[in-house]
Amino acid sequence: MKMLEDRIRKDGIVREGNVLKVDSFINHQMDPMLMRLIAEEFVKRFSDVEINKIMTIEASGIAPAIMVGYLMQLPVVFAKKKEPKTMRHALTTTVHSFTKDREYPVSISGEYLNSKDHILCIDDFLANGNAALGMYDLIQQAGAHLSGMGFIIEKKFQHGAGSVDEKLQTCDFKKMVFTKLLAPLNIKVEYIYVLCDWFKKDCYNDVLEYIRAKNCYYFYNEIPLTQLSL
Ligand code: 5GP
Repeated sequence: MKMLEDRIRKDGIVREGNVLKVDSFINHQMDPMLMRLIAEEFVKRFSDVEINKIMTIEASGIAPAIMVGYLMQLPVVFAKKKEPKTMRHALTTTVHSFTKDREYPVSISGEYLNSKDHILCIDDFLANGNAALGMYDLIQQAGAHLSGMGFIIEKKFQHGAGSVDEKLQTCDFKKMVFTKLLAPLNIKVEYIYVLCDWFKKDCYNDVLEYIRAKNCYYFYNEIPLTQLSL
């Protein structure tokens, strides 16, 4: 969703530990107009599945969930972070918090989640998927059906080989094409990769050797300004 991507670029702040702060429009101050557009997108994407209830985990999932529930005209239920003493037929699970790096229990009443339910889960972030797994556990305990899950922002991490791997083998061709394109302007082309520590693993030795053999370069973690004469 272009509008959301633009807003993240404009107002999002990246903090240590892979945390994206979106406090000015999602997690603290909220932008209901943007939230509505996001909810409309969810409604569109889940229009062909059977849903009778929206589910989330407090607190930051509540705003998008309620907007989706409002548009779909469906009830919204949220798992509570502390089991209130008054909760009847409580179903409980444990979730690992990405931002606080600790476990916490979440509970939902069996009165509001049961075997007749077809659930759409909505939350603000999908990071490692622990909150999602917690919601799925509660749904299973209730004997309910999971119809779908929607997240405003998905964060991608590289825990395994990824699409960059293929790009490491294309420096030779790219350098040739750019050299051809820029030749009329008399601009010299160098092809340089800026890699993170992930690529220091032994399994990348051959491809790094290939890059060097093709007179291309790679650096780790920073743009080589001196190399670029900047
Ligand atoms: P997960 O359970 O998928 O690992 O993490 C998702 C939960 O952690 C979300 O409900 C969200 O509240 C929180 N979270 C994860 N990553 C971020 C982040 O980068 N920024 C913020 N604000 N919350 C995050």
